[in-house]
Amino acid sequence: THNPQRLLVTGGAGFIGTNFVHYWLEQYPDTHIVVLDVLTYAGRRENLQAHEGKSNFRFVQGDILDQALVTKLLREETIDTMVHFAAESHVDRSIYGPDAFLKTNIDGTHSLLKAAKTVWLDEKPGFAHRFHHVSTDEVYGTLSPTDPAFTETTPYAPNSPYAASKAASDHIVRAYQHTYGLQTTTSNCSNNYGPYQYPEKLIPLAISRLLQGQAVPIYGDGLQVRDWLYVDDHNRGIDLIIRKGRIGETYNIGGNNEQANINLIHALCELLDARFPESPNVPHQQHITYVTDRPGHDRRYAIDNSKICDELGYQPQETFTSCLSKTLDWYLNGEAFWRGGVVLFGTHSSS
Ligand code: NAD
Repeated sequence: THNPQRLLVTGGAGFIGTNFVHYWLEQYPDTHIVVLDVLTYAGRRENLQAHEGKSNFRFVQGDILDQALVTKLLREETIDTMVHFAAESHVDRSIYGPDAFLKTNIDGTHSLLKAAKTVWLDEKPGFAHRFHHVSTDEVYGTLSPTDPAFTETTPYAPNSPYAASKAASDHIVRAYQHTYGLQTTTSNCSNNYGPYQYPEKLIPLAISRLLQGQAVPIYGDGLQVRDWLYVDDHNRGIDLIIRKGRIGETYNIGGNNEQANINLIHALCELLDARFPESPNVPHQQHITYVTDRPGHDRRYAIDNSKICDELGYQPQETFTSCLSKTLDWYLNGEAFWRGGVVLFGTHSSS
């Protein structure tokens, strides 16, 4: 077991990282968090405003590729746990501009590993530490409707430049554990949803478009299946892995909740119809528009959770219906988040 006291959270101003910081400081208010985030289009420092000024919170705007900076932070903040979220994360962007993905996701992860090795292994042998790497189920490729869900032993078969860059980063993390003895763990999770997700991804994109009476683009036939995981359930899984996970192991985290994209959008439309019965946009379904499918679009992802459930006692605590409603309410109350300065790219991501 490991008892994290001083954490470096990379990408902590992005979607999952923000939720992680809020979750962690609520659960463990006596621990210390340093967020390292370069603030790309997807990162917002305002997400973390609630913690600014606290003595146990520090925000550093910087690049994970800056190994000297990471090394300095590990030393001066006596970091014992790194939780690595920082990445280029949007599949559509990776199709049209893969370079940034290879740089941040592969070289960036390697830069963190090198800094960790220097400070935790070379300078302070015996120092209790953890490096937790956050990855995706997309490394496993795609499933047919009848295939069994992904397990930790499913062969890697990434299909997009995004997925390939994440797959490469998983392998480098593995190699640093195997070769140098760095204390690493990795999680591969399914599609997350919840507050603070940048509105280029399917759920916040659909919510923001529907609220404005705009068309919601659906790729292909809309029957692509994703396993939706509420972001807090994901972060509870990461918490368990950091504390109790076996070194060098990979754990899949999923929501036990497979949905076809089109069904998900219909569910959102129904929630909106009920919230705004007088709106001129009712029925919200009228705004659904089918568009040409994404090149190489994976058909189905599904996660077999048994390893983390059996070994670490994990259970998703949330239900899809209540969380979709909760997420919708968050976007309704946080209009500034999705209205201001959003840089949309491509059509949408169903990943
Ligand atoms: P996001 O795009 O919302 O946030 C990424 C954050 O990383 C942003 O704040 C960005 O500014 C920061 N960042 C990017 N490049 C950086 C760099 N070079 N240096 C420092 N910071 C940098 O992503 P997310 O959805 O929160 O995903 C977080 C992690 O979880 C990623 O590693 C992603 O691959 C993984 N993941 C996400 C999902 C999902 O459904 N969102 C599913 C599986 C895995």
